[in-house]
Amino acid sequence: MRYRDAIYLDYQASAPLDPDVLSAMQGSWQSDFANPHAAEHALGWRANAVIEAAANTIGAFAGVGADHVVFTSGATEANWLAIAGAAEKLGPTGRIIISAAEHKSVEAAAESSAARYGLDLVRIGVDRTGAVDIERLGAATGGRTVLVSVIAVGNEVGTINDIEEIRTIIGREALLHVDASQAPAAVDVASIMAQADLMTLSSHKVYGPKGIGVLLGAPETLKRLAPLMAGGAQQGGLRPGTVPTPLCVGFARALAKMDELRSERERISILRDRFVKALQERCGGVTMIGAASGQRHPGNACLRIEGVEAQDLLQALQPRIAASSQSACNSGSIEPSHVLVALGLSLEEARECVRFSLGRFSDLAQIEEATALIATAIAERRALTRRLAV
Ligand code: PMP
Repeated sequence: MRYRDAIYLDYQASAPLDPDVLSAMQGSWQSDFANPHAAEHALGWRANAVIEAAANTIGAFAGVGADHVVFTSGATEANWLAIAGAAEKLGPTGRIIISAAEHKSVEAAAESSAARYGLDLVRIGVDRTGAVDIERLGAATGGRTVLVSVIAVGNEVGTINDIEEIRTIIGREALLHVDASQAPAAVDVASIMAQADLMTLSSHKVYGPKGIGVLLGAPETLKRLAPLMAGGAQQGGLRPGTVPTPLCVGFARALAKMDELRSERERISILRDRFVKALQERCGGVTMIGAASGQRHPGNACLRIEGVEAQDLLQALQPRIAASSQSACNSGSIEPSHVLVALGLSLEEARECVRFSLGRFSDLAQIEEATALIATAIAERRALTRRLAV
């Protein structure tokens, strides 16, 4: 993907809208304008049927029915609904467990809910690859644990957690919430949902529109959550507010296309491996952080570039290359990523990490051009540091 002169290598922050998704939505903006919750006219019924069809497709992608789908504004809200919603109903004597490599939205929801509803919050460390330490998770999960929340595929390092193993070790007592926002590009999401009680997905990570996501859960599980706000009776009152019909259409089309294009994972991971190898050959001192190629998000290349501050490098690459020094939700902050620190990197090492992420519209020509630009910028930054040192 190029936009003007820029090569886009930040798919994990947000994937470009797929043209098929755009055309699926286009008609809907005009024809499905009526309030989908208007029960007294045919235009309302029509918009409602469109949403029901989208919920069916989204549910089917996760191996469940439309009655499992709660539309939200994105993954942040879905994570918050799962965690704060459960904490409010299940506190105050319980414990919430999360991993040390969660997205900020899970971290913040768990911290806030623990403080507000009087629960203990336990963070389970990750290993050098970023995967949750299963033994420690097993040891921490006791009778008082009400909720365990674990990321399926890491947004910074791309590590894939084994959700089946996690479910087995924690048992069935506690609710298991899985933030699967980054998972559709990497693994079979239905097999995650088969283990989870609650699961989060986000549309703009799968080439869909921004502003929509879902929390998935069986109707009896959703009843165990408190709504985050009060309002109308939409979505059973669990998530009041008018559901945005065209965004649902786009999200459903985007997920259906993820299913159709499962084979793109291999193409993307081959391209990612070529990119990493080329950069390592040209520069030296470039290491991939996290798991081996097969055990991570196919597009993720979280690279430590020795002797170069990630933020300086990314700035030097403007406006030609789009990548991140950490999750976009935190980027621009001077604090190094909590995920990289959890992996055991020193603060200095963490500051030298750049997350490049490739996707559907990445190709060899872009990768070759990006490699040349990045290698030149690395050499310049290193030369500058040497000059300043003398
Ligand atoms: N969880 C993960 C793993 C993510 O990568 C993101 C996006 N950075 C979010 C949650 C938040 O998603 P949204 O932008 O849809 O709120």
